[in-house]
Amino acid sequence: MSETSTSAADGLDAATPFRNRLAFDLDVDICVVGAGLAGLTVAREAARLGASVAVLEGRQVGWNASGHHLGTVLPGFGLPISDVIERVGLDDARELWALSKLGADYVRATATEELIPGIAMSEGALEVSNVDAGESLVSRLQILAEDFATEVEGWHVDHVRSVLRTGRYFHGIYFPKAFQIDGRKYVHGLAALATRAGARIFEETPVVSIDFSGIRKRIVTPSARLRATHIVLAGNIHLGAPLKRLSDTLLPVWRYAALTEPLGAGLGEAIAFPGSVTDSDGIDHFRIVGGDRLLWASPETTWGARPKRFGAAVQRRIATVFPQLGKVPISDVFGGAVGVTVHGMPQIGQLRKGLWVASGFGRQGLNTSALAGQLIARSILWGDDRWRLFSPFELVWAGGTTGRVAGHFISLWSRGASSAAGVLARYREGARAKERRREARLAEANLKAGTRGPPPRRPPGAVRPVPPPAPAVAEEGGDPYRGPSQESERIPGAGM
Ligand SMILES: Cc1cc2nc3c(=O)[nH]c(=O)nc-3n(C[C@H](O)[C@H](O)[C@H](O)COP(=O)(O)OP(=O)(O)OC[C@H]3O[C@@H](n4cnc5c(N)ncnc54)[C@H](O)[C@@H]3O)c2cc1C
Repeated sequence: MSETSTSAADGLDAATPFRNRLAFDLDVDICVVGAGLAGLTVAREAARLGASVAVLEGRQVGWNASGHHLGTVLPGFGLPISDVIERVGLDDARELWALSKLGADYVRATATEELIPGIAMSEGALEVSNVDAGESLVSRLQILAEDFATEVEGWHVDHVRSVLRTGRYFHGIYFPKAFQIDGRKYVHGLAALATRAGARIFEETPVVSIDFSGIRKRIVTPSARLRATHIVLAGNIHLGAPLKRLSDTLLPVWRYAALTEPLGAGLGEAIAFPGSVTDSDGIDHFRIVGGDRLLWASPETTWGARPKRFGAAVQRRIATVFPQLGKVPISDVFGGAVGVTVHGMPQIGQLRKGLWVASGFGRQGLNTSALAGQLIARSILWGDDRWRLFSPFELVWAGGTTGRVAGHFISLWSRGASSAAGVLARYREGARAKERRREARLAEANLKAGTRGPPPRRPPGAVRPVPPPAPAVAEEGGDPYRGPSQESERIPGAGM
């Protein structure tokens, strides 16, 4: 993986302290496996609450996704909120959403210039639709604003296009309270804060096996052994040997991003939005960094590959969405593997007494790993049992190699389908504009000729008018109280 800092401004974290590998036996209250965002947050919070904590990291702090992301912090989960409601009901969905906001608040409170110098926080995120689906946007806005007390604004297509000069995007949802930070600075800052709180971090120390049968659990590394009352598994897809069945519940997805060279004033003309932009199909995610460089994530695979291979793909994607930028020069490409669960929600909770999991954060790991860290630390030390809200989302086998292949094709198919939907939406928009121009010419000609002209044509893509259901007529010998038939009750397009 590349060592690029997502701030573009200052490259490598030369100040990152070297943390030794564990070479002696140790007894602690809590052993955390994995020094990514999840493991480091648990460690920091548990140490702040007074526990003795050791973090064992197989490689280096933040070498994977936690040090190679785009730094966008939004409330919510990978699973759309309507699906969460469907699964757990409105009340629990509200509580889960409030927890997701708590996670985002935690990152905001931690990512300050005082605590993590150079964190480069900027405000606001925009989720844009690449199909012309105003109604679904309105219903999402209502859910978020009214049922989930989240500050959001609905942006009309003209507003979206006044800040993103492309015909690819239609409506948008603006999150004024969302923000972005420098990803690498954050994970290394978090490690420093955990250390300051008293946690001990050991790099190059892979956990090879765990005996979690007794009250004091035993953890084995190549050069030392540990005993702990609690173990927190925060190893994402790399956990492997210590609990392979847990790794098998995650579908690994490698996501790649590129940072361009400085693009000058042309970039601001194409993109006049200072925050992060994501599209509603999860294909593109981008933002401007360092004034005139573009940070853009898009390609995904279900196997690990060298990030450099995807530079040209990002370049093509940028040229497709913003053709006015042309073929932008790429300065660096990086990537990381995220663990996606079958149900789309993270794995947060206690597997058996003293054995905890904080994993499966998928593409939205900043707020969710922060919330996991707080919940688990507070549960161990204070008995806070709100992690149980995640219990309906069980550990489900992700299908092994077959699952990866299937996942790859599903991802290709859904990306293809949404890009086809985008083409159709843009075609319809073009056709509607053509139709309006034709009608205007016709009206002008009619005005000149003093005639009224034919009624306007139904615009392409408009909903076909449906005749009202026939009133129920009491037929002779029939049931006078029979309601309308199944067919007459079906709403066109609903649930298909
Ligand atoms: C390109 C890209 C862009 C992204 N952008 C965003 C974004 O803008 N906003 C957002 O919210 N999320 C984003 N994400 C997702 C986010 O980065 C992840 O969800 C998050 O970093 C996952 O953190 P983690 O701690 O679970 O995993 P990891 O970062 O993978 O950390 C797990 C650690 O555990 C260690 N480990 C595993 N097994 C063992 C073992 N047996 N012994 C010792 N150590 C072990 C690993 O070495 C690793 O360091 C992005 C991801 C990518 C790849």
